Amino acid sequence: MARLGSWIESHPEGIYVRPADAWIDPSQAKARAWVTHGHADHARGGHGAVLATPETLAIMATRYGPQAGQGIAYDETIRVGDVDVRFVPAGHVLGSAQIVMEHKCERVVVSGDYKRRPDPTCPCFVPVPCDVFVTEATFGLPVFRHPDTGSEIDRLLHRLHSDPERCVLVGAYALGKAQRIITELRQRGHHDPIYFHGAVERLCRLYEELGVALGDLRPATGAAKDELKGKIVIAPPSALNDRWSRRLPDPVTAMASGWMRIRQRARQRNVELPLIISDHADWDELTATIRELAPREVWITHGREEALKHWCMTHQIKACELNLVGYEDEDD
Ligand SMILES: [Zn+2]
Ligand SMILES: [Zn+2]
Repeated sequence: MARLGSWIESHPEGIYVRPADAWIDPSQAKARAWVTHGHADHARGGHGAVLATPETLAIMATRYGPQAGQGIAYDETIRVGDVDVRFVPAGHVLGSAQIVMEHKCERVVVSGDYKRRPDPTCPCFVPVPCDVFVTEATFGLPVFRHPDTGSEIDRLLHRLHSDPERCVLVGAYALGKAQRIITELRQRGHHDPIYFHGAVERLCRLYEELGVALGDLRPATGAAKDELKGKIVIAPPSALNDRWSRRLPDPVTAMASGWMRIRQRARQRNVELPLIISDHADWDELTATIRELAPREVWITHGREEALKHWCMTHQIKACELNLVGYEDEDD
């Protein structure tokens, strides 16, 4: 009997689906690419034809210019070569999808990046039972347990209100995290203007065009220091310690990332207020998802593979690492 999922090949530059002659999230330009979501380590420019959700295509167009390809709505099934393919929500960022493939009575699900907790900017992860579950393991160690998002947002607001002479500068990745922080703040009743660094503007505008309301957003560049006192400013992590931030009124430096669990990471970036808010599954979400889907095999794409592989083996699930290269968490 053929090996389970033998029609799918792992190459350093991505996952190759032979009966469809298509690559999933390839790190090199390919004739046919299926893209799970818009983060730069998964979505690259230059492919011949892209299959992705309309939101992911719009994000790619914003970053790389117009894309040759085709939009696929969540839950629509299309046939490519000898494979039935369907995209279902991954709960990671706007447009993010798991790719569900059926071929020769086997179902393989490639999760891309995912999380299980609610995110007001995108639909929740949909569990699809399968024979092979291909998962990330960015936070695949038991030490990674993300706290409740609402309580992290409350810490941010408490800090903001406790010192009205200062602003709080929040480092957040430009795609996904920035918009999620803004939306979470709105849901906690914070309706003040939120100021942004120019690098997050285009994607905020795109989210709004795609139906995610972000409220009163204003550029931080050009705003008077007094105007920014007591306000939240969102910037990409790279801007936290650069010259740009000197224009701000005595900023409290915050950063929203799953890595903020590690004190040393917070210290490296001079982060005074670490916020543990992640767009990836934590250890409990990873293991609960595998339990729920009960796949016959788990293939691990990137992250801390060893501990998750070991967990699978102790739970009688065959697991292996795919050793892909080029996935670096732009997003976390
Ligand atoms: Zn991602
Ligand atoms: Zn990733």
